[in-house]
This record gives sequence, structure tokens and C-alpha cells, in this order.
Amino acid sequence: MRPEIKRAQHTIPVGASSPLRACRNVGTDPLVVAEAHGQYLHDVDGTRYIDFMYGFGPLILGHAPEAVSTAIARQAANGTLFGTYCTQEIELAERITATADHLEQLRFVCSGTEAVMSTLRLARAYTGRTRVLRFNGGYHGHFDLVQNKDETRMRDSGLDPAAMRSNVFAEYNDAASVERAFAESPGEIAAVVVEPIACNMSLVMPEEGFLADLRRICDREGAVLIFDEVITGFRLTYGPASNLLGVSPDLTAFGKIIGGGTPVGAFGGRRDIMRLLDEERVLQGGTLSGNPLTMAAGLATLDALAQPGFYEELERKGALLEAAVERHRAAKGLDFTFTRTGSIFAFIFVPQAAPVRVKADVAAQAQSPYTTMYAGLRTAGYHLAPDIEEPMYVSAETTDETLEDFAARAVALLATDPN
Ligand code: PLP
Repeated sequence: MRPEIKRAQHTIPVGASSPLRACRNVGTDPLVVAEAHGQYLHDVDGTRYIDFMYGFGPLILGHAPEAVSTAIARQAANGTLFGTYCTQEIELAERITATADHLEQLRFVCSGTEAVMSTLRLARAYTGRTRVLRFNGGYHGHFDLVQNKDETRMRDSGLDPAAMRSNVFAEYNDAASVERAFAESPGEIAAVVVEPIACNMSLVMPEEGFLADLRRICDREGAVLIFDEVITGFRLTYGPASNLLGVSPDLTAFGKIIGGGTPVGAFGGRRDIMRLLDEERVLQGGTLSGNPLTMAAGLATLDALAQPGFYEELERKGALLEAAVERHRAAKGLDFTFTRTGSIFAFIFVPQAAPVRVKADVAAQAQSPYTTMYAGLRTAGYHLAPDIEEPMYVSAETTDETLEDFAARAVALLATDPN
């Protein structure tokens, strides 16, 4: 074990400020990174790794893109926090809300967790109800109201049992389970919160009609439909993924990409719901929210994303990776599932013929192929997701050569795994 890891673990629980970084689920020591540029991470020994994690998703432009770094430096020289209105904040809010009609107003926070938390509070205030329906396998941050339904863990987890009881669970891609949940809690559910594309149980796409069913059920039941686009916002298109999926939520939570790699979240949606904040009926605020440093990084990032052909090029790279994985898989006669949309991808170790619709489908996969692939690719100089159910990302800096090499090595390693 590297001395820095021991040192980190002495002072910081598990050695890191967010638990997955400890790499416990892949049985490998975490990298200790000194700097990062383009598609590369450089560790403290100067060893270079090609990144497919990109900070769990925000870094769609790769590491330290010049325009973003320059914008941050320029802003830092001119003040990092004003504690009053600033034009950068207004500008970024205008740019984000301009991407979808349903984003009538928006507020910034400092994390995706805060963004979702704020949408749920608003939904409760708007409806006068308390319960929240969410989906097994979704992740919406670390606050009590959106934790998992595992009750044994709950007893000693520090979570508030009352908040946990407010949770109502349904299955992703299963509108009938949503109908049942509403029938069992009539008039109690304030909101349905969903990742429109599920990115925390590997990568699972919504089936045709599922999101439209959620829209229809929420309208009928008077519940607020919330899309958690913390990962998908600006990842697949210039704006929320709802623009591609054809269903409009009432509220949307953003994070990650819109802050250009600095701490960020945002939530927005229907003016008649968002205005509850204006009246100070619903408390929501933050010392560092909408700070000019993050706003500058976000604006510079959106400038790059708005360039013609940006998302087409990312799609080309994603498709290249998918084709390469398929080609090598066929050559080796392996049977596993590779899911991809745009620049998000995941390996799921279930047969291609097996359904991948709900959390249980993903949870059924064997762990060892991923561990084998992770360890082998680390040795070969790649940095992958530290958990089998985290998706990975292609960035604007990922080269075609990297994608070809990664696919060949990944499949060759999988061929050596007994599972
Ligand atoms: N929502 C989704 C879909 C996420 O993937 C995450 C984090 O990965 C969050 C919310 C929480 O965001 P943050 O880690 O910025 O608090």
C-alpha cells in the first residue's frame, strides 16, 4: 500500500471524502493523483493512466480543458465569492433554462445531493404531501429521504426511520409497480423522482413508454414528476436528456457537467412550483451557491458544449467503442452485455439475451469479471469505475486509439475470467 493511502486513512475515514473512491469494491488500491490533463491522470509517481471515470462524470471535456482552467483563473483573480447578485450566475441560469421549455426557473446549489433534496422539499410544499416515490437502483444523493430500502442497514446507519418510511419504492421500467405504489398510498405521494436514464445501476435505458407512463400517472395523481439529471444533464445533448426522451418533468435536478468540474448542483422547472422559493415559504439557500468561480467554469464548459458537432463527435466515439467491444467479444465467443448511450457506457456481466430492465437484472451479474478487468486494465494504465454498477464515460479528449486499445484489452482480460 502506498504511504499516502495509509496517511489518508489515518485522518480521513476510508481515506477519502466520498466512499467509492476507496476502491473497496474492486480490491485494488486507489490511485493517488497529482495532476490530470486531457484523457490522462498522472499519479504522484508520475505514472500516467487513461481515465474513463472523469471524476464520476462531470469532466465531459476531459481534464483541465484550457478554456475552463483559464476562466477559473481569471475569475479567481477577480473574486471567488460575492454574496450578492452576479452576472455570471444570471447568465448560466439563462443558458440552462433556455435549453428546455419546462425549465422556467432555476436555482444553483453546490452538489447534486442538494439539488435533489431541494426539488423534494419543493414538491412537498407544492402538494402538501410527504411521501416520495423512487426506484430501486436509483441514486439521488446521500440524504436520508432517498436512501435504500434495506431496513437492517437502516437500524445502525444513522438514518432517520421516519424519513425512511416516507420513501415508497417501485421498479424502474415497471409502470405497474408505480400504479401499485400510488394505490397503496392514496393522496400521500408528493413526488416521483427518477433518473430518466438509470446511471446508478450500471446503465439501463428507459423502455418505450415508461417515462410517459410516469408523466401520465403523476398528472392523474397530482404528484410532481422530478427528473434527476445530475449525470445525464448536458451529457447526451446540450440540455437535459428529457429533450431526447420526449417527456417533460415538472422539476429537474442538475449537477456535475454544468459546473465544469467544480462543486455544483442546480434545480429548476415549473415557475408555479419554483416561485414557492421566491415567497420564502420554502427555505433553500447556501453560502457558496451560485459562486462566481463555479459559474465561470460552467459558462466556459457550456461554450465548448455549444460548438456545432460537439455531441455528434462524442456519439461517434461512443459508437466506435461499442463496435470495437462487440468485434472483440464476437472473436472471443464471450457472452456479456455492453450498454451505451452517447458517451456513457457500462459492462454488465449477464448474457446478452438476458433482460436488463430493473435493478435485480443488474444485481444478478457476477462480480469477478469486472474485478479481473479492473485489475488488468489498471496494470495496463487505465482508470475505471471503482464499482461494477457505476457507468463510465468517454470524453472529448478520449482518442480513437484509446478506445480501440481499451476494447481489445478489456475483452482479452474478460476471456481469462472463469465466470
Ligand atoms: N443524482 C444522481 C443521479 C447522481 O448520480 C448523483 C451522484 O453521483 C447525485 C444525484 C448526487 O450528486 P452529488 O454527488 O454531487 O451530491
